[in-house]
Amino acid sequence: MPANILIVEDEVAILELIALNLHQSGFNPLRAVSAEIADNLVKNTLPDLIILDWMLPGMNGVSFAKRLRANSDTKKIPILMLTAKSEEENKILGLDSGIDDYLTKPFSPKELIARIKALLRRSAPELTDEPIK
Ligand code: CA
Repeated sequence: MPANILIVEDEVAILELIALNLHQSGFNPLRAVSAEIADNLVKNTLPDLIILDWMLPGMNGVSFAKRLRANSDTKKIPILMLTAKSEEENKILGLDSGIDDYLTKPFSPKELIARIKALLRRSAPELTDEPIK
């Protein structure tokens, strides 16, 4: 069963680029353009990992991460945060928001996939098993 990966990103071009790369790597991408939409999605399908953009309209990525961590259903889902600048990167390092990893934009899709696999290997090793050839 492919891992469900929720992408929360308001820039549709980036959202679709990530979704395409996830799909090509054998993951099942779920899409949300705001934290509010993501929040509703999570209530129906618990994702195996969340890629979360920092800057979102409405609730920002950090607030959403804190909300996920405060809920017993979602507190263990790995979160990879996307940041736009090194200033945000520095803030993340000092944050107690429960972010598992982060990438600064622009990032290479290859690196994103590698980070996702590393996070899933830690949280759900069965989801990253290579298919038998
Ligand atoms: Ca954004």
